[in-house]
Amino acid sequence: MKYLLVLAVVFIAIWFWRKGRQEELRSRPPPRPAPPAVGAPTEMVRCAQCGLHLPASDAVRGNAGQIYCSAAHRKAAEERG
Ligand SMILES: [Zn+2]
Repeated sequence: MKYLLVLAVVFIAIWFWRKGRQEELRSRPPPRPAPPAVGAPTEMVRCAQCGLHLPASDAVRGNAGQIYCSAAHRKAAEERG
């Protein structure tokens, strides 16, 4: 009977410990969102001269806001009129 009492105390102790841990986990702030992956999607634009799709960061802008894949295509398009 004595052992049963010890066992009951141990179970209660474990129960309180687990309850405390759960509340600790719940009160913890959520983890930060992961930083964007290296290969994050970039905005793709289309060359007005040849139709090639390329990242906006690599695009060449024309005087009227057109987008070209290279300075050569911008020049060609501007010469064409
Ligand atoms: Zn082009």
